[in-house]
Amino acid sequence: MRKPHFRFASTVSLLNELNRDMPRLLGYDEAGGKQNFKTWQAKARKKLRGLLGFLPVKVTDPKSWLLETEQREGFTREQWALESPLGDHILLYRLVPRLAKGPKGILLALHGHGLYGADFVAGVNLGRPGEQEMLDQCNYDYGVQFAERGWLVYAPCQRGFNQRNDQGIPFKDVLPGQVIDPNDPSAPTGCSCLDINSRAILLGTTDIGLRVQDAVHLVSWIKSRPEERKLPLGCVGLSGGGHTTELLAAVDTRIKAASIQGYFCYWSDQIMDVTHCNCNYVPHLLRYFEQDDVCGLICPRPLLVTTATEDGVAPVKSFRKAYRALKQTYRDQGVEKNLDQDIFEGEHEFSGRKAFKFFDKHLATGLLA
Ligand SMILES: [Zn+2]
Repeated sequence: MRKPHFRFASTVSLLNELNRDMPRLLGYDEAGGKQNFKTWQAKARKKLRGLLGFLPVKVTDPKSWLLETEQREGFTREQWALESPLGDHILLYRLVPRLAKGPKGILLALHGHGLYGADFVAGVNLGRPGEQEMLDQCNYDYGVQFAERGWLVYAPCQRGFNQRNDQGIPFKDVLPGQVIDPNDPSAPTGCSCLDINSRAILLGTTDIGLRVQDAVHLVSWIKSRPEERKLPLGCVGLSGGGHTTELLAAVDTRIKAASIQGYFCYWSDQIMDVTHCNCNYVPHLLRYFEQDDVCGLICPRPLLVTTATEDGVAPVKSFRKAYRALKQTYRDQGVEKNLDQDIFEGEHEFSGRKAFKFFDKHLATGLLA
């Protein structure tokens, strides 16, 4: 018998081929989202929460502790500990602008991967190895930048990073003055995503699901604070922070406007075609959704997505394709103006080119915008 052209490798290529031909079972187009938008959203949101694997909540009335207060120029930076829904503790920064009239509203500012987690976003710069480089490279102190513009900012440390890293405080053993190159594959990763996600999926949950569950819990806590419950609430995040922002806004409609920075594109190009950090891998995800479908759950709420020409996490070609699909969803639902994009010359970094005006326009109370 004539031998076929054997393919002993590669399984990754095979999986990519299978993915290309796979319909998304709860995709906006595939599941009739255009015609029955609210029904589709309800069904898809429920499925997404299930895939993320929220665990049974142990703490519904969390205790909190104010740990530190520091006066900065134009705002006060507080550090808090908050009981998580599962009984451990969330470390978070609360940046309170010093204003006569009160803040414009509240923004959750979520950090991505990187050496010092929420410290970057909250502007805590202790001169640690690689700290200034990363701040400059990613324009990473966006929590501060929003506080300086009149927003009350919450910047929680996400699970697996910095103070919540399973491997201890990262880089404490790095030599003084040693610069960490984030592009060096042998450099410490600064996160325990692989450790967490490997175990989490055994329990039917996921690393990112636990982060989103923490964020939902934080929103509930903010909404329980009498002086804050009526303020409009939005969310912004870069990279892994954009990932959490996207999923949080998709499942929690209390987020009234969102900006996903350096993350939005197609998962098929971002984490299927290339190997990415393990916290991105949610069992069964691509059988049901691509990113434009998940972001369709944010519609009709205002959404700004951003990427840079040289961004390797949200490649611009894939970003443009996913944006066109998502724009069609917003157009179908008659709210085209509520979706905007910001593509800029640069690398993987936060962009305020449109973000500051976006939140002023779509979220601010009007007192100060
Ligand atoms: Zn990760």
